[in-house]
Amino acid sequence: MTVPLQCRCGQVKGEIEPSGAYARATCYCNDCRAYAQWLGVPGLLDDAGGVDVVAMPPSHLRFTRGMEQVACMSWSERGIHRWYAACCRTPLGNTPRNPKVHYVGVSTACLEGAGAAVEQAFGPPRRCLVATASATAPVRKRPLGTAWGVVRVVVGLMGARLRGRRESPFLDAATGKPIRAPQVVRR
Ligand SMILES: [Zn+2]
Ligand SMILES: [Zn+2]
Repeated sequence: MTVPLQCRCGQVKGEIEPSGAYARATCYCNDCRAYAQWLGVPGLLDDAGGVDVVAMPPSHLRFTRGMEQVACMSWSERGIHRWYAACCRTPLGNTPRNPKVHYVGVSTACLEGAGAAVEQAFGPPRRCLVATASATAPVRKRPLGTAWGVVRVVVGLMGARLRGRRESPFLDAATGKPIRAPQVVRR
């Protein structure tokens, strides 16, 4: 079973193989929130200013159309890469600068079309909470869910590193470099 992924206007489409997903997490950091605001489309933030992502190996994500719309920004020359669909500014996923770190935080905004399959595959939102100190409203702490999510991510990354996994739709297979030079945006 795969979970379909698409931008809100439908030009970018793809799918996720959910078996290897690390964890579903909500991030309340200022950078993620500023990114959602920079994208400028509604419905990306929860009521405490958090964004919902599925942390997973990028090798389990595949784009099937609209690759030419896939764009990348970053808040600095050393910041993480934030990928989005340029057509309708739907966030797609965030990846680390270091291609050896086999991670993508897929935005659930591009999984809206999958409906209940998202919760079935990745669990409910707001179980693993990151950077709650910068939330814009009080959030109920989830120490167990958070710890479990962090462990799952760490174990997943270690496993991927041991197996030497690098394949990613965001990296050029030949050069290992990002498929787009990230646009550095100053704020
Ligand atoms: Zn679109
Ligand atoms: Zn964040």
